[in-house]
Amino acid sequence: MRAAVYYNNSDIRIEEMPIPEIGPDEVLVKTIASGICGGELMEWYHAPRAPKVMGHEPAGIIVDKGSQVKNFNVGDRVFVNHYVSCGTCRQCLRGRFTLCEHLKESKLFPGTTCEYFRVPSRQLNRDTLIIPDNVTFAEATVCEPWGCVLGGLKVTEILPGDTVLVIGAGFMGMGFLHMAPLFGAGKVISMDLSDWRLNKSLSMGATHTINPKTENPEEKLRDINGGYLADVVIVTVPTVQLYSQGHNLVERGGFLHLGAPTMPEPLWTINPQRQYFTEMKVSAKYSADHNDTSQIMKWLAAGRIDAKAAITHRCELDDTFSAFRMMLDAGESLKTVVYPHGIDQEIQPVSKKIGTDS
Ligand SMILES: [Zn+2]
Ligand SMILES: [Zn+2]
Repeated sequence: MRAAVYYNNSDIRIEEMPIPEIGPDEVLVKTIASGICGGELMEWYHAPRAPKVMGHEPAGIIVDKGSQVKNFNVGDRVFVNHYVSCGTCRQCLRGRFTLCEHLKESKLFPGTTCEYFRVPSRQLNRDTLIIPDNVTFAEATVCEPWGCVLGGLKVTEILPGDTVLVIGAGFMGMGFLHMAPLFGAGKVISMDLSDWRLNKSLSMGATHTINPKTENPEEKLRDINGGYLADVVIVTVPTVQLYSQGHNLVERGGFLHLGAPTMPEPLWTINPQRQYFTEMKVSAKYSADHNDTSQIMKWLAAGRIDAKAAITHRCELDDTFSAFRMMLDAGESLKTVVYPHGIDQEIQPVSKKIGTDS
């Protein structure tokens, strides 16, 4: 089979490798769609682990199953989560599934930006979801990234009517501002340097926008919010500068959510008096658990959220590198979905196509 293999941010190759073999309690999935994740652009994290097959946001069809597999059948359309908790370790018993001590022990092999992948028994039993008929493969892939967003919103304290500021309007920021109203948000403000992304934000659920290139964020925020800062600030840009800016834009009694990981250095310095006297609460969420992914799927099936609007591009496996570079440029794109067996495998068209006849 063919696979997109990551070496570094300037080197992604399409390579041949064997179709994975499966054990008696595993299944083989034919990958129809696989999202490229913003996290895959973090060269500092991935280059030391290269070469590796890309992808962890898959949707596909079960084409083979082991003799002991009971709950799934060949032909099932499925989404599979890549990190799955064990359910029995200390953190799992506390309900903190994304902190599971065994989270990364079991993996989708060899990745998902490839023609086929193996689903180990843990992933199969704890976080494989049948895709409802009215949800496309591409939409189903967002169960992972927007599952992370949903997990973040669950630990963020939004009171009904609260003004929520989302810093960064990439795919994850778009998820936060799109779903914050489902948690009771009043005004939702999108802040980004790109006017294209800010415009897109307005169609995804933002009520207001701030572009720091041309506007003073604090002044504009106070204008929008009756003189106050934001009740809730969510940072989706992975730098300490933006963590600090977010910290400074939280109103007294408010909440700061860290929605993206920075590099280990430089350290983050904050004003401790501001932290103490504002009684600000701070949260973070690292990944999506099995509750988050299944809840996203239910919202997709119910038409409560619109992933199509945020999936801006789709491409063939051969175009993975150009799609990756386009995401790195952070221009007029949010999420790109790769179709390892061809775009025509999708049940209905979504978004723009990258490549020769686009
Ligand atoms: Zn992801
Ligand atoms: Zn565990």
